[in-house]
Amino acid sequence: MNVIKKKISIVIPCFNEDESIQVTIDRLTLLKQEINDYDLELLFIDDGSTDNTVNIIDSNINKNGIKLVCFSRNFGHQIAVSAGIDLADGDAVVLIDADLQDPPEVIIEMIKIWNSGYDVVYGQRKERAGESYFKLLTAKYFYKSLNYLSNTAIPHDTGDFRLMDKKVIEVLRSMPEKDRFLRGMISWVGFNQIAIEYNRQPRFAGESKYPLRKMIKFALDGILSFSTKPLKISVGIGLICASISLLGILYAILMRVLTNNWVEGWTALMIAVLFIGGVQLVSVGILGEYIGRIYNEIKARPLYIIKNKNGFENENK
Ligand code: UDP
Ligand code: MG
Repeated sequence: MNVIKKKISIVIPCFNEDESIQVTIDRLTLLKQEINDYDLELLFIDDGSTDNTVNIIDSNINKNGIKLVCFSRNFGHQIAVSAGIDLADGDAVVLIDADLQDPPEVIIEMIKIWNSGYDVVYGQRKERAGESYFKLLTAKYFYKSLNYLSNTAIPHDTGDFRLMDKKVIEVLRSMPEKDRFLRGMISWVGFNQIAIEYNRQPRFAGESKYPLRKMIKFALDGILSFSTKPLKISVGIGLICASISLLGILYAILMRVLTNNWVEGWTALMIAVLFIGGVQLVSVGILGEYIGRIYNEIKARPLYIIKNKNGFENENK
């Protein structure tokens, strides 16, 4: 009897990973042998690499189940992963980085937990070797503030390393938002989610492709896509400042009417003007961030542009 195997898609976003990609492919191929109860699809999304990454993946395409999608330029990690979610056709989809920071062997455990009835199994980092103190500290306070600001509880110490059932994947495909913070979107979706602890390894080779600039954009997407509280906070600060300045105005009038030394108070005046000016600028800035995002949405451009595909049965899919 021919039993149809369930299929697991592994999505690997890559951006200039030529130092580690071959080892990653080998480790994932090895994994294939360990879970031969399933069909395994390795879906590499090349996010506009300018090094040898594409050639290395291409030379592995003849191996069973390896597929490659190349973007026309660098669109960013979250978008590369989203393309993987759109194109993967497994019964479950696993997201994993190309730099071996997330050990592929954990996927075996994830599959077991998925089989016991969970829809999302997300990796939670017990230890994070090889990360800078700065990254650990900023990550900690980022997740604290994110959870304070947002109504969706987003687990701390997690990345995008996770397994998701097809049900969840289908919902994610119907969420076309442009400024994407996937781990938040996945929490928002709901279903049965559970953490699996693992030790995050140092990068196998190369450097982090997340410079501070990308990290700040990522953090802002997390906060602004999941909360409108910053708007409320800016209104609150505005109100407090307005009340304080009202007292200041009263004081100034009383000084003017009741005393002769009304030129004094210049310092207080300057402080008040500068302070309120600052608060206004920050508030307008927060407003601007939201408006920018609305603008980004209504332009309705495609999320990514695929240059070419390799390894797909039907290349027009
Ligand atoms: N990545 C990507 N596009 C980018 C930046 C990163 O596809 O613009 C990929 C990268 O190749 C890696 C994963 O996303 O597979 C995570 O990136 P990285 O390891 O640099 O992030 P970190 O682990 O330092 O947070
Ligand atoms: Mg990494």
